[in-house]
Amino acid sequence: MRSFRKYFLNPLLDLLYPQYCVVCDTLIPGTSQVLCLACAHRLPFTGLEQIADNETDIRLYGKIHHLNAAPLLYFIEEGMVQVMMHQLKYKNRPDIGHYLGTLIAARYAETEWFQSIEAIVPVPLHPKKEYRRGYNQAQCIAEGISAYSHIPLLQKAVVRKINTDSQIHKSRAARLVNVTGAFEVHKAPQLKGKHILLVDDVFTTGATIASCGNCILQVEGTTLSMATAAMAIL
Ligand SMILES: [Zn+2]
Repeated sequence: MRSFRKYFLNPLLDLLYPQYCVVCDTLIPGTSQVLCLACAHRLPFTGLEQIADNETDIRLYGKIHHLNAAPLLYFIEEGMVQVMMHQLKYKNRPDIGHYLGTLIAARYAETEWFQSIEAIVPVPLHPKKEYRRGYNQAQCIAEGISAYSHIPLLQKAVVRKINTDSQIHKSRAARLVNVTGAFEVHKAPQLKGKHILLVDDVFTTGATIASCGNCILQVEGTTLSMATAAMAIL
């Protein structure tokens, strides 16, 4: 069966649905792949999941009482992670989110804090925005983490009430105001007493994820850690 797959099915699938590396456009063998081997080998991992009180915690200081926070990759302008995040958000490539989620779960599984996570919650998009995009990129990452780690994913546990404008061109103070009160917990009984992993795509100032996280922390007995696919260099 394995050789049928290896010598017949996979080459046939390659022929019918050729896959190209998201970053360098090289033809890659096999299906459901995002990066060629060369690009996968030069992914800029932060390694911050192993470090307590890291750069992410400094940015979150005074915004939220969380346990751990770690982004997977460094987001450098015009770098490979920017290309991947752009494709994930704007070019209908939810599979990139799944791939990044799998990488998060595989790397973070070695840490003690990740092993105590009991449920995964993605930072929600406003329903209108999710409808336009066709998916929530944070949810795709969360699905990848859940599939690899077998930690349950809580769907729609938190919802976004306010359709905030793009955060990119706003000052830090404006962003904080913009996201305050934007979220609402809908599944409190499922969150109660659990160590939750809150998942988002890119970590910048931490205003959005902290706002969403503070909403979750209002549920009795919850503790919170955070994982994002990337971290912007400020
Ligand atoms: Zn490549």
